[in-house]
Amino acid sequence: MITIKTKKEIDIMREGGHILAAILKEARDYTKPGIATGDIDRFVGRLCLKYGVKPAFRGYNGFPANICTSLNDEIVHGLPSDKRVIHSGDLVSLDFGVLYRGFNTDAAITFSVGKANATEKKLIKVVQKSFFAGMKKVRAGAHLGDVSEAIQKYIEKEGFAVIRNLAGHGIGKEIHEYPVIPNFGKKGTGDILKEGMVLAIEPMIAEKGFELKLDTDGWTYITADGGLSAHFEHTICVTKRGYEILTQ
Ligand code: MG
Repeated sequence: MITIKTKKEIDIMREGGHILAAILKEARDYTKPGIATGDIDRFVGRLCLKYGVKPAFRGYNGFPANICTSLNDEIVHGLPSDKRVIHSGDLVSLDFGVLYRGFNTDAAITFSVGKANATEKKLIKVVQKSFFAGMKKVRAGAHLGDVSEAIQKYIEKEGFAVIRNLAGHGIGKEIHEYPVIPNFGKKGTGDILKEGMVLAIEPMIAEKGFELKLDTDGWTYITADGGLSAHFEHTICVTKRGYEILTQ
């Protein structure tokens, strides 16, 4: 069952989500050529202390960092490292969650450092637009499959692949709550959305094929064919007529 959040709980998640968005923006501005992903992780750790939030991913299933930093062919769950230095031309995804007053929020961005090539620019644009294509379907009474299908259709129309083995999720007191929200599906199927449901919607796309593999670090998922990948995520709340983004 998808939990329904009270107005008070949603107010807390909106506050937490606002802090998350501020940290993510500062982390993005901090990400420059010569900076290691381990530096980004420590920078985010300091911001969490400053803003009085807990990094939600730290310790989750044993994840040992504050933020996920995934570069180029890395899809998600990139493990920050002092050995991993950012270069001009890298495609960077930052995925970050905060725990604030007992509730989690989750968001991710992908951007290029230095000059982006045409494929990188298109990946960034398509992953964002696919999110909003899905959002157009969100309202009380819609099926979850309506959202998944809209995301998939947009991505495939643009010639990219939808990552199949990773998905969005419900969110609240737990970082991952029911349901699993794939970025592919059929309209008219799946759970029916109700006002007060809070979901993390997160299209993950690949330049070539959707097959993935786990890196030797045991955390980072990478595309099996080495193609570039992009990720975009917000925590949203279902309203009567549509949705509200809580992580902005
Ligand atoms: Mg998520």
